[in-house]
Amino acid sequence: MKFTILGSGGANPTPRAFCQCTVCKKARRNGEPYKRNCSSLFVNDINTLIDCGEDIGDSVNRRNIKQVDNLFITHWHPDHTFGLRIILEANCKKKGNVSYKMVHIYIPKNVYKTLKQNFPVIDYFVNIQKTGKLHLIEDGQKINIKDITVKVIGYRGKVSDTYAYLFECGEKKVLYAPCDTISFNRYINFNNLDLVIHECGLFSDDPSEISFKTLMCRLKEIKPKKVILTHIEEGQINYWGEKYLKSMIRKYSDINFVFGYDGMEIKV
Ligand SMILES: [Zn+2]
Ligand SMILES: [Zn+2]
Repeated sequence: MKFTILGSGGANPTPRAFCQCTVCKKARRNGEPYKRNCSSLFVNDINTLIDCGEDIGDSVNRRNIKQVDNLFITHWHPDHTFGLRIILEANCKKKGNVSYKMVHIYIPKNVYKTLKQNFPVIDYFVNIQKTGKLHLIEDGQKINIKDITVKVIGYRGKVSDTYAYLFECGEKKVLYAPCDTISFNRYINFNNLDLVIHECGLFSDDPSEISFKTLMCRLKEIKPKKVILTHIEEGQINYWGEKYLKSMIRKYSDINFVFGYDGMEIKV
């Protein structure tokens, strides 16, 4: 399986609009790897996108992605969904505003309920413009796309409002859990993972988010072969500095992890 990290940034991509901090200035001046778009992943073998924040158009263009067939959503938050229009309407012919290609959108039932309230225009794309074919999914379900199986993982089972996806091909297993993993309490069920792509958590203590320290404890338990950390907040780099991130790699040298960047390609 081949994966590309399209966006490794946090809820506020880097550079943050208007911001004149050193992190944002550097990202504006040098671009990648300092520029980080909203969190999203591309599964190259099956033209499948996971999440689409507001800047998804830039993310797919930067990687020259020519087609998206499937789109999976982890949770409703704008940095993961508000780029839906860009992905769906891109397949719309101007004349008559009709779709010439449908993207299969996979959204967990609970997530769809909240998404519809916060992003009601999704109904227009699915039912009128028909640029998206909606598939409501739930925890435990498996979706087969070519030779890859995508397993739906609710952080708290069927009642979850946030989801991870497990990609399986032959013996290989890759878990993608990019955001809000504080409520993900079923880690212990996941062993023998070849790769985990996971939010990096906060270096500061904030009870509403997973801390980096807690994440390291979880990873020690499930022992994945490799870990890529993503959803890296500009505010965190700004406060702690890039050197601090590097020092974490030394501190937790028993865990095979790296910090991801936009455009990072991984073959498993
Ligand atoms: Zn900034
Ligand atoms: Zn997020």
